[in-house]
Amino acid sequence: MAGNRKNNLRNVRKLMRKSTGVENFNPAIALPPADFIYDFLDEKGWNQSTLAEVTSISEKHISQLLNNKAAITDETARKLSLALGADPLFWMKLQFDFERDRAEGKSLYEEIELKRTLHERIPSLTQAIKLKMVNGAQTAENLLEEVLSLTTAKTINDLLEPELHNLRTAALRTHRQPQDRLALAIWANSARRIANDSISNLPEYQPEFLDDFYEEVPGLTLDPDTGPLRAVRLLRNLGVTVMYHPPLKGTTVDGAAFWADKSHPVIALTARKKTLDEFWFVLLHELGHIVSEGYFRDVDLVEEPQASDDPKEQAANNFAADVLIPPDKWEIIRLRAEEQKKRNRTPSGEEFLQFAESVGVHPHIVTGRLHFNNLLPKTHFRKKPYSGRINKRNVIQALFQV
Ligand SMILES: [Zn+2]
Repeated sequence: MAGNRKNNLRNVRKLMRKSTGVENFNPAIALPPADFIYDFLDEKGWNQSTLAEVTSISEKHISQLLNNKAAITDETARKLSLALGADPLFWMKLQFDFERDRAEGKSLYEEIELKRTLHERIPSLTQAIKLKMVNGAQTAENLLEEVLSLTTAKTINDLLEPELHNLRTAALRTHRQPQDRLALAIWANSARRIANDSISNLPEYQPEFLDDFYEEVPGLTLDPDTGPLRAVRLLRNLGVTVMYHPPLKGTTVDGAAFWADKSHPVIALTARKKTLDEFWFVLLHELGHIVSEGYFRDVDLVEEPQASDDPKEQAANNFAADVLIPPDKWEIIRLRAEEQKKRNRTPSGEEFLQFAESVGVHPHIVTGRLHFNNLLPKTHFRKKPYSGRINKRNVIQALFQV
């Protein structure tokens, strides 16, 4: 990483010059003359050796100039002017301004410009710092390194051109809204870091008792106020940590599942949604990823679960659906709804309440699934008693927080 630092900074400065044009670029604090030599070389398609050859300046001296280890003298300025262009005074002035500002100016320049670039690239960075997902009280270079490590980008150029690198969030499937992938990566990786840092506080995983939990789930849905809290506590007792990780602007992620280490599965929830069926669906979908272990213990997995055609996402969706409504009971409900749909009708409210009672779940679990499967118009059965809301604040308080 350290070797990249100088390149990172130079690239930031270069992008800024490009956006204003070299001649019009008048920074508050002088840039290293070497930056400009690089620019002119790039323009000509020359390397250091060509410049040495053309100017009869030794390669060693060229290298010193390019590392700001040697100053541009009158003679060097004339040679650079003849070889690369621009007035000799231009080159002299660069050297003069650079030396004048170097003492206190350079570091200030780098601090502000580098931080500015990071904030421009990641609009939710301030929010991420406030939420302590990113440590903000540090130098610009440390901030850059932290952002790079959270996004798995290698250089600042990867941040400026994010399509060039893989963020390891391949399972993301959202068709509704474009995601700020850098914000998403910061969200997911900071959740992992929080879990990793507090691993000694996390309970041991006991998958052998999960069946008992599944049996409790339908009954837990009946009470929108206490059900979610009890589920979160039961899971924690079985070693599945459910943590609150607030959403960052530019992302629409609902949840992620990952392993802090081999015996500590974690579900991170943004609690963006308020409805009862969505809470249960997201929680169980992520649990589905954890129990079908083996394929992703080492992989970050973040997704918008309801809009994916990935088979792993389908499997997690099916898991969640089956825990909430046993397949044989769902089959009866589905056939009835399909039959009604063919006749352009919907089952009566009475029927829904009976369905729900026969399964032992809140009616919203039934209507929610029918909505999800397009067996019920999205506008129908949106109110009580067919729909329920969770108390977001209560749920967030019950979730593991550091
Ligand atoms: Zn998923």
